Amino acid sequence: FHHRPSFSKLVVILTASGGGLVAYADSKSDHAIESSQVAHKKKKVVVLGTGWAGTTFLKNLDSSLYDVQVISPRNYFAFTPLLPSITCGTVEPRSIVEPIRKIIKKKGGDIKFWEAECFKIDPTNKKVHCRSNIGTNLDGNGEFLLDYDCLVIAIGARANTFNTPGVVEHCHFLKEIEDAQKIRRSVMDCFERASLPYLDEEERKRMLHFVIVGGGPTGVEFAAELHDFVSEDLSKLYPTVRDLVKISVIEAGEHILTMFDRRITKFAEEKFQREGIAVKTGFKVVEVSDKDITMTNASTGKMSVPYGMAVWSTGIGTRPVIMDFMKQIDQANRRVLATDEWLRVRGCDGVYALGDCATISQRKVMEDISLIFKVADKDHSGTLTVKEIQDVLDDICIRYPQVELYLKSKQMSNIVDLIKDSKGDVQKESVELDIEEFKKALANVDSQVKNLPATAQVAAQQGNYLARCFNKMKDTDENPEGPLRIRESGRHRFRPFRYKHFGQFAPLGGEQTAAQLPGDWISIGQSSQWLWYSVYASKQVSWRTRALVISDWMKRFIFGRDSSCL
Ligand code: FAD
Repeated sequence: FHHRPSFSKLVVILTASGGGLVAYADSKSDHAIESSQVAHKKKKVVVLGTGWAGTTFLKNLDSSLYDVQVISPRNYFAFTPLLPSITCGTVEPRSIVEPIRKIIKKKGGDIKFWEAECFKIDPTNKKVHCRSNIGTNLDGNGEFLLDYDCLVIAIGARANTFNTPGVVEHCHFLKEIEDAQKIRRSVMDCFERASLPYLDEEERKRMLHFVIVGGGPTGVEFAAELHDFVSEDLSKLYPTVRDLVKISVIEAGEHILTMFDRRITKFAEEKFQREGIAVKTGFKVVEVSDKDITMTNASTGKMSVPYGMAVWSTGIGTRPVIMDFMKQIDQANRRVLATDEWLRVRGCDGVYALGDCATISQRKVMEDISLIFKVADKDHSGTLTVKEIQDVLDDICIRYPQVELYLKSKQMSNIVDLIKDSKGDVQKESVELDIEEFKKALANVDSQVKNLPATAQVAAQQGNYLARCFNKMKDTDENPEGPLRIRESGRHRFRPFRYKHFGQFAPLGGEQTAAQLPGDWISIGQSSQWLWYSVYASKQVSWRTRALVISDWMKRFIFGRDSSCL
């Protein structure tokens, strides 16, 4: 579907709402002075978070246009896809982090960074409440307030425990660098403890039972890394206990890696089975104590297994500050912040949200589709030509990129069949189609449309998109480049955000990776592992981290992984 050619140019006078700049149409005398004063007063942009979304936004923003302040409790960007490699020492922690001040300095411009966390967002007064986490005595308790004109929320998510008792107290998570470092130490502690004298066999076995709860990409990658670490390095160093090691992956669903193609899931399950990694699907963990994990299964009922170390990796949940913010803007019943297709938070002014803490709300897909049909159909009596249908689809797809993917993949073939069935040649402009039939064909789009995945790919593309919008704010005052508005006249200022999927990897250990690339192209094996190495090396944020990561990989090839309990 192509974008429609732009219509006549419209001069739109926008207020600060939606984060827009104030544009003045009248250039005469005192108005001109007033507007130049306003123009010189830069808008205050506050960015929360220095992860994938926040850092990509900062890297691409023309910071000379705004007064930018960045808040984050960590003063670095971390390349999260390599976190599982840190858990076993394949890559060192400092190789995947880049100080945020270095990134800011490289950009030039005047960006201020404050190492603090935001604990409250006040959209009514356009303020954020922050607290320093490094023990300063600001205001008696380390707290301070920042004003904003535009707020960019990119604070990611936290691990989701589903309120399962004992998880927070006894399980490791794998979200941050510190988590990965703790896991690395804990793995080594388990081996050292299991090797101590005077322990009985059962206790040694328990110590060396590593349990991963959650069969998603992170859990599976960690299981594969751990298996490699044990078989390639630790089995040589701990010969007396190596046969007692057990790795289990517990998954509540029917399969692991369900977001991947079925062929990859099957390959991964078979590979794990061959290597002795126990994959327990259909098991839901209900409680974790210091020594046992209790789970239930439809056929076997409740059972407990002893464990030495557990990693909880069952998906992401909302951070408390976002929950509080959602309550203030009538989004309390949601799981993540809802934005429109321009990444503006629904229900408040000048606030944008991107990355894992937000989702583009699809609530109104069918309502909008009906509206677009109504507009298109106003001169017809219940029928549209194929050309008009394609225009309607253009409108829908501009607003809802996921609908486009969906239509292209499955529904479109039905629609094409429908057009063919109704009048024959689909190319003919004069062919007509019953709108009601057509609507019926689209009716299940609402339920089929899925939210964007919570990945670095989405977060980075959103950061890049929003920065480009901010850079063009002024130009688009006069030349709005977005699609026609359907509820009012004129055009949207910008094209909506469109996600482009470049594929995904699932490293499965033993130098084998599964790659699922666009166009349903699947590759599994060593060649994909090399593709993985090249992609992850090229995606590093700086030449420094790129060089460090590559040298870590080489060190591992030559000397193996380091097993010190540091
Ligand atoms: P984050 O990158 O999590 O950044 C959030 C930022 O907000 C951080 O700087 C944090 O310090 C800051 N922050 C937190 N609380 C506050 C606060 N109160 N105030 C201010 N700042 C705050 N995705 C992929 O596409 N490919 C992969 O291979 C992949 N592998 C992954 C492996 C692991 C182990 C994990 C955990 C994730 C992986 N992901 C991967 C997912 C990816 O990391 C996330 O989707 C991505 O980090 C989301 O980016 P974000 O900017 O929304 O959040």
